[in-house]
Amino acid sequence: KQQVFDQKTINEDGTVHEEQPMQQLRVLARQRYLTEKEEQQLELLSKELHYLENDVKQYGWDNLTQRERDNITLKRDLMDLVRQRKSLATRGFSLQDDYLNDDGNIDINRKRELLNKRDDYTKNTNANRQQEWEETQLRKALKGPQDTGEDIHVPGSEEYEFVFDDEAGVDFTDETDDVLPEKDAAYENELLTRLEAEQKRVSTIQEMRKLLPVYKYRKDLLDAIRENQILIVVSETGSGKTTQLPQFLFEDGYTKNGKFQIAVTQPRRVAATAVSARVAEEMDVVLGKEVGYSIRFDDKTHPQKTILKYMTDGMLLREFLADPELLKYSCIMIDEAHERTLATDILLGLLKDILLHRKDLKLIISSATMNSTKFSKFFYNCPIFNIPGRRFPVDIHYTLQPEANYLQAAISTIFQIHTKEKVPGDILVFLTGQDEIETAREKIEIIAEKLGSGIKPMIITPIYANLPQEEQEKIFIPTPPGCRKIVLATNIAETSLTIDGIKYVVDPGFVKENSFVPTTGMSQLETVACSRASVDQRAGRAGRVGPGKCYRLFTKWSYYNELELMPKPEIIRANLSNTVLLLLSLGITDLLKFPMLDKPSVSSLSKSLEQLYVLGALNSKGIITRLGRIMCAFPCEPEFAKVLHTSASHHLCAGVLEECLTIVSMLLEATSLFAGQRKATTSNSIAGKVSSDHMLYLRVYEEWANTNYSRLWCQDHKVQYKTLRRVKNIRDQLWRCCERLGFTALNAAATENANGSIVNPESRIAKSFISGFPMNVAQLGTSGYHTTGLKKSGGLNVFIHPSSVVFQQTREEAKKPSRYVLYQQLLLTSKEFIKDCMPVTNESWLQEMVPQVFNSR
Ligand code: ADP
Ligand code: MG
Repeated sequence: KQQVFDQKTINEDGTVHEEQPMQQLRVLARQRYLTEKEEQQLELLSKELHYLENDVKQYGWDNLTQRERDNITLKRDLMDLVRQRKSLATRGFSLQDDYLNDDGNIDINRKRELLNKRDDYTKNTNANRQQEWEETQLRKALKGPQDTGEDIHVPGSEEYEFVFDDEAGVDFTDETDDVLPEKDAAYENELLTRLEAEQKRVSTIQEMRKLLPVYKYRKDLLDAIRENQILIVVSETGSGKTTQLPQFLFEDGYTKNGKFQIAVTQPRRVAATAVSARVAEEMDVVLGKEVGYSIRFDDKTHPQKTILKYMTDGMLLREFLADPELLKYSCIMIDEAHERTLATDILLGLLKDILLHRKDLKLIISSATMNSTKFSKFFYNCPIFNIPGRRFPVDIHYTLQPEANYLQAAISTIFQIHTKEKVPGDILVFLTGQDEIETAREKIEIIAEKLGSGIKPMIITPIYANLPQEEQEKIFIPTPPGCRKIVLATNIAETSLTIDGIKYVVDPGFVKENSFVPTTGMSQLETVACSRASVDQRAGRAGRVGPGKCYRLFTKWSYYNELELMPKPEIIRANLSNTVLLLLSLGITDLLKFPMLDKPSVSSLSKSLEQLYVLGALNSKGIITRLGRIMCAFPCEPEFAKVLHTSASHHLCAGVLEECLTIVSMLLEATSLFAGQRKATTSNSIAGKVSSDHMLYLRVYEEWANTNYSRLWCQDHKVQYKTLRRVKNIRDQLWRCCERLGFTALNAAATENANGSIVNPESRIAKSFISGFPMNVAQLGTSGYHTTGLKKSGGLNVFIHPSSVVFQQTREEAKKPSRYVLYQQLLLTSKEFIKDCMPVTNESWLQEMVPQVFNSR
């Protein structure tokens, strides 16, 4: 079916953007198209009319009965209307309807009136089944199947019966798929209710803005910003800092009619995309134009038009490389500063410097109510603007004894709440990551199904970083009456995103943290207990709409005696290699003098210098090399850049750049690649055996590419189509980067030297990865694998993750494990797992590629 949309709802790439449901509904309401079947009905109608017109000719208008005349008039009118609409639709015009207001909104009352009139009419005529059917068909003939609008309203038509000529009648089959009028009406009514809600939402969006706590302080805030170059804004989460403040700045003229931009940084990608979508909606503009977002590998901004730019803190950090003074910005808002991510901390240090000579630049640091004085001290005791928030009391419940299995406990608690407490009142559950959330969702769904109609309907909505955007938006859809929404969230819902309607919080008290052990030089993802500040913040999420309850799945004793007071800032626990490299390339060589809220330990700094040296990014004097600068230019971790560099230029590896590009791009999206935990299914369904996860990724991508990027292929092999599209996009971007830096030329030269056929591509790929990740090699000992890092001794015992191809091989095919295995991720949960593994089949590769590390062994 051909569809007509107005310009505003179409993205540049021609797809319909989904941010503006109201507009879409409006468009839907305006569309009038005919299906094939309806075309036939129209034929029928016109034939009928033809006979009738013949009658008129034969007998003369005056000799017809009144009823016949009316019948003809009605049919003529109907035909005209349909033709007119059809021709407009095919020419791409939107139609103004009886029930559309001048502004294009749907006039609900008008629509209701018409619908009721029609229903009355249906009731009053004691039409038999056949007549009703005919009427439905006729009505359907005049409107799209999806569309439930009363398309054609001929004045006075209520008074007539629709009559079909016997000859022109249709043959009936016994069973029919079509709906009888009363059902139809129910569906229309449902759609109307939805329309009504949608319209209300749009009209209240501006009112809602006014209800947010920051609104009352608009003038004071703007005054304070005018008077101070740096301002710290503190309030409860959900008061409107992220969504409103940038709009205030825009309204106050800080963008100078589009000459300057306002940047708002977020620690998380999901927050940047979700919030920018919201703000675009509030400002009634298309996302990606005036309001946009920029996250790694996904830039939805317009070079000339964008004035409000939501971005991850890491992206702004990268902008320093191209524009060290950040000249295009008039204001920078460092949002969620309390999260103290590494990138935010470094940004604050860099900004502290440029604010001195860019007096026109405003810096706003916004934070939830944690450690704000620290920021003020850092910025010469700048003022703190406190916005009093509203919060209802939240009852805190603890468990009586520690829970061994918090996931199970969380699920039981959800059902306890759901069965005992009244609706409305949604539940927010804090879990640590995607796997856990998906497991929980499955379990909840199974239990809910077993309980069946014994419980109220539950709507389960997950939210985590790798969730596709369309899914993410679901958490914001208001819960329908009589239902309960269960939001299964990572830490993202702690402060970054506010979901309205939450009344209950279930908090196991854990968070996944990236940490770095300087002694071994390894990074790991670890599930750790939250701080007290964090769990309090989480509990607060229950008290936004009214008094709430928080169920903590740990003991009161634990809260007071075991939890840290504050979360540890990332800078003192994370691997600093990337950051150090970035700072060095910005010319900041004295790292110890660089202004930082918290100083990382000297051992952690020197470890990262050592790692950069091993990668070849620094020379032995600690000065950044050409390779180091090249690594910085890549929008991915320097280790990956090194892999790509090696695969294009190293005399032992060159020629496999394309393959490595694919694997790197796949690794960047690996967590959301396979539908559920179906990696094994996919690897089995792909022809031939693969020896490593890396080769599996390569194979998956290449097979998919060979089908011309087919969606069907993905369905057949249980791979997420959308993820693969993203991988392709990332690969294209990295490819362009490789072109710019001359990698592709080097690679082409190598291929040419080998007369087009590279020998042993697989070992070349393996060697390239060894050169990028020499720290991520685990060695087989007497008790299984242990990590090595840069040191010979003192590793951690690790297990190959069951999702890995390598695990399946040793388990199912009883293949002898290789002595060394390279891994991409170290995960500390219930067990120490290594993920995305590749056996190092030839030990000499290690010495060949990274002699600095492996020669001494
Ligand atoms: P703060 O930054 O102070 O925590 P926000 O500006 O994020 O506050 O949120 C203000 C309000 O906007 C909240 O009530 C929240 O419900 C609403 N909001 C934010 N993002 C969205 C969204 N994507 N969809 C619907 N409502 C949203
Ligand atoms: Mg916020």
